[in-house]
Amino acid sequence: MFDDLPYPCRHQPSPRRRTLAVEVRDAEVVVRSPLRYPPQRLKAWLKDREDWILHHLQAQQARLEAHQIRFQSGSAFPFMGQELTLFWQLAEKTSVQWQAQALQLSLSRRSKRDPLERVPEALKTWMQAQAEQSLLPRVAQLAQQMRMHPRQVLIKGFRRRWGQCSSQGVITLNWRLMHASPALQDYVIIHELCHLREMNHSSAFWALVAQHCPDYRNLRQALRSRGAWLDW
Ligand SMILES: [Zn+2]
Repeated sequence: MFDDLPYPCRHQPSPRRRTLAVEVRDAEVVVRSPLRYPPQRLKAWLKDREDWILHHLQAQQARLEAHQIRFQSGSAFPFMGQELTLFWQLAEKTSVQWQAQALQLSLSRRSKRDPLERVPEALKTWMQAQAEQSLLPRVAQLAQQMRMHPRQVLIKGFRRRWGQCSSQGVITLNWRLMHASPALQDYVIIHELCHLREMNHSSAFWALVAQHCPDYRNLRQALRSRGAWLDW
């Protein structure tokens, strides 16, 4: 039904909706409508908002591109809210060294595979180790302050989320959070810890988040604009 729109669009009809709403998020257009809303009227409604939609879409695409993680030697690599410069070269064996503002990768000469495939692999292993070293103790610290008791805390790689909290009380954080500043990391950790008490995104949940992280609205917004960090 949306094939002839000048942008990709996801339609979410819902029995609980009475009005139309459109949102541009992570460079994607989502339109929400009541069930069985007449398609022609929905299209006309979107047409009236086309300038607004395209403007936001372009701005978000530009932002995604600006934050894209790149692997050419000399690229900027965001780490803990700073910008490191990534360098790599072929060497006797594979290793990663972080010195001041430089992240120096050595890739083993013995492999015949394309270095641009091997650089992200080596970086993932390194980021996972960094996340275990610095995020796990931070979760323990914040959990103690907030009097929350996660059953287990894990570090994994997700492509669409920064963290998650299971109904069994297991918190999992994305190692890609190591790209983010400590303030953003704290927000995600606090968010997941609050889910131990409120397993939803109700107003009670956000009130609890606000208690421990008063600036959560701005941090959440900032994190949203860094969606490209999830994409490698
Ligand atoms: Zn949540």
